[in-house]
Amino acid sequence: MKKRLVILGAGESGIGAALLGVKTGFDVFVSDKGEIKERFRKELEEAGIAFEQGKHSEELILNADEVVKSPGIPDNAHLIVKLKEKSIPVISEIEFAGRYATGKKICITGSNGKTTTTMLIHHILTNAGIDAEPAGNVGFGFARLVAEGREPEYWVLELSSFQLDGMFSFKADVAVILNITPDHLDRYGYQMQNYVDSKFRIVRNMKENDTFVYCDDDEIITAEIKKRNIKAQLIPFSLEHKVEQGAFLDNDKIVINYKNSSMSFFTHELSLDGRHNIYNSMAAGIVSQVLRIRKKIIRDSLANFKGVEHRLEKVAAVRGIKFINDSKATNVNSAWYALECMDSPVIWIAGGTDKGNDYSELEGIVREKVKVLICLGKDNSKLVNYFKGVVPEILETSSMKDAVRTAYRMGKKGDVVLLSPACASFDLFDNYEHRGRLFKEYVRRL
Ligand code: ADP
Repeated sequence: MKKRLVILGAGESGIGAALLGVKTGFDVFVSDKGEIKERFRKELEEAGIAFEQGKHSEELILNADEVVKSPGIPDNAHLIVKLKEKSIPVISEIEFAGRYATGKKICITGSNGKTTTTMLIHHILTNAGIDAEPAGNVGFGFARLVAEGREPEYWVLELSSFQLDGMFSFKADVAVILNITPDHLDRYGYQMQNYVDSKFRIVRNMKENDTFVYCDDDEIITAEIKKRNIKAQLIPFSLEHKVEQGAFLDNDKIVINYKNSSMSFFTHELSLDGRHNIYNSMAAGIVSQVLRIRKKIIRDSLANFKGVEHRLEKVAAVRGIKFINDSKATNVNSAWYALECMDSPVIWIAGGTDKGNDYSELEGIVREKVKVLICLGKDNSKLVNYFKGVVPEILETSSMKDAVRTAYRMGKKGDVVLLSPACASFDLFDNYEHRGRLFKEYVRRL
């Protein structure tokens, strides 16, 4: 008899898992508590997959042999608790697809910089003529691509902590942890250690000939490494000190040593600005060295990478005022890095759905760089109260149109208008992409 696979959540990852489930011989059932998007519903119908929406019918779910859970559903949801009580395995789409994916897996996680680093690694591999496919949190779902028969030589997988939580037997060939700063703590019982444990699931099952690349300047990461017996080869990167194997900064030159090979290039040669992007480029550079990609290709690729939309994306200059879209900065740490690499007076557009932000981390950099704060959110009181007296001028807006026009009105030649909200977008926008696209649209209309 066919085994029953139940998929909870019918987004890109759920649909991919359903298609792969059918292909690999499961009896598949998809259940989504909300409304399933039209295009996904069509796909299910065309593939003849049973589904329900607007509810989770326990009698159709608790009889599963295995469950693939969307990363959006928390572990303490009533249904998930019930499944666990019945000892029904609950896994993530990545774990499921990983069973069937041929090709080596380069996996990237961190609190910030995942997409940038994933796309940077993919860019270098592609320039080297290697067949590589980005997936996970970027592009198409991993399971969907596997179901479609995609068999690249390398998968470059961006993994969020929620995806990692549902991973058990999966093994990365190369794993990267960029940084760990508080984020999503609401999903981790407000215990930082739970979040750290989640991130470190990326090194689970790794063997001696696998490679673990990590930031040696991140005390949370280095302390955690000391506690664990990680089998993979450890290759660090640092902006603060020299390392034997791995990447470090020698004045303004990045040096990467891997086994008996060494390469170096200047930070100003990197196409991406900012200290955080030196970290991201170091991580990508090490991974490329591990893969034995030619040094010239690595160097050229790091120099001509176009960046990823909504990440410190240069939009336009109007009347000598530069506009930068960093809509993806949805937490305090990423906004800090964005502000840090601004070298002109900043008109800062921030705000949105607060995730328990601690603005004290931003106070110093904001005092130094920001001349006007434009709050863009339904409820701006926390931002206004915190930055009163820190920023010379604070203005409140409640639409992107208003925010862009106000910024433009306040700007002088040589200023930069930075959208780097430090908050989620859901109060006024569908998601951060929607927020970023509207920003660009209103800038172009100026
Ligand atoms: P993620 O996929 O982890 O959300 P992104 O690559 O999409 O990360 O970048 C999101 C934002 O985080 C960027 O707009 C940038 O401001 C910031 N950022 C990027 N890389 C780093 C890093 N290594 N450390 C801290 N912040 C970063």
